[in-house]
Parts: sequence; structure tokens; C-alpha cells
Amino acid sequence: MEDETNSSQRNFIGIWFDCCQTYGRLYKNKAGTMYVGRCPKCLRPASVRIGGEGTNRRFFRGG
Ligand SMILES: [Zn+2]
Repeated sequence: MEDETNSSQRNFIGIWFDCCQTYGRLYKNKAGTMYVGRCPKCLRPASVRIGGEGTNRRFFRGG
């Protein structure tokens, strides 16, 4: 469920999975410390830290 009224704190980010050359999403974990998810094709786990440099990395480079 997307909450458009809270655009500054999105519950997910879109990322590029280099492993399968496909686009996917990472969702914020319960603690709100990381975005976590899996590649939609190969189910490779991916995560991006929230805060610091993590928020600027919208693209996940596998391998
Ligand atoms: Zn993949």
C-alpha cells in the first residue's frame, strides 16, 4: 500500500538489479533501518541501508 501523503519517507525504493538486468523494489524493514527485498527473477537477496550514503544508492549492483 502506498502512502502518497508521506513522500519524504517512502516505504519502498526502486532499484536496478544488475544480476538479471531488471527493475525491482526494496521495502523498508520493520525497524526502519534498511530497505530489503529480492531480485524478481533470481530471488537474490538485496538490501540498502537507510541513512548515510545508503539512501543515495538507488541501484543495487549484484555480484
Ligand atoms: Zn537477479
